[in-house]
Amino acid sequence: MLMIQDIVQLRALIRQWRNAGERIAFVPTMGNLHQGHLQLVDTAKQRADRVIVSIFVNPMQFGANEDLDKYPRTLEQDCKGLTEHGADAVFTPTPAIIYPRGLDVQTYVEVPLLGDHHCGASRAGHFRGVSTIVTKLFNLVQPDIACFGQKDYQQLAIIRQMVADLSMPIEIIGVPTTRAEDGLALSSRNGYLTAEQRAIAPDLYSVLQWMKQQLHQGFSDFRALEQQAKDKLNAAGFKADYMNISNRQTLVPATDSSQPLVILAAAYLGNTRLIDNIEV
Ligand code: AMP
Repeated sequence: MLMIQDIVQLRALIRQWRNAGERIAFVPTMGNLHQGHLQLVDTAKQRADRVIVSIFVNPMQFGANEDLDKYPRTLEQDCKGLTEHGADAVFTPTPAIIYPRGLDVQTYVEVPLLGDHHCGASRAGHFRGVSTIVTKLFNLVQPDIACFGQKDYQQLAIIRQMVADLSMPIEIIGVPTTRAEDGLALSSRNGYLTAEQRAIAPDLYSVLQWMKQQLHQGFSDFRALEQQAKDKLNAAGFKADYMNISNRQTLVPATDSSQPLVILAAAYLGNTRLIDNIEV
């Protein structure tokens, strides 16, 4: 597997692949790779001739009080996993390479409405950071397809909208969430959990499954159900952030089951913020 930090080198590699008529798949990540990330790589490999993964902990998408400095960086281990899963190249730029003039850039990419609710409400500027870095990486890598996890449901919706709105010639593939055996969605942030918190963490998905069951049984007061779910989480030891039954396309809070639904959730265990979702 090729390891690339430099943009000139990256462009040369992409040009070489393009000239050979190869189809390029891209998997953007922040590293500390687990089976969920590697599932994206496997999906990418099935759909393209070449797979390139980026590892970049993007400072622009972290808030002032968030975990940018302590975000786990495990490059050696990550490269081992990527090699085993047959990635062709990994792009690991430094912040100075991506933001040579610092974070105070002149141009941002923003997807309002989709980015305003849910995580956008709790993490000001987060999705602007995500859509800006993904645009920059798309411009550098110029892939035919890009794979994103459904675990970050709102992020996936924003990327799809951005690609459509800006006429980017890239097919976006959503990959189902990889979970631990007890149901907890795999996440780099699970590593922050104490043993006691890790034992409680699967309740987030259990509560989502319980809500889905209630909806299937005809429970129709969505706001009341959301509140009951938050109460369950808080009783289990979480601090619920949001629990929103929403329209799957617009992500706007839904009021009836006539539309395809998704339940989006975020909750804290101590200082660690976990997110998850379930389609209904
Ligand atoms: P991150 O490194 O957390 O920014 O994630 C990089 C990509 O991996 C994003 O598209 C995530 O949605 C995806 N991802 C993270 N966790 C999982 C998971 N458990 N299952 C599937 N995809 C995931």
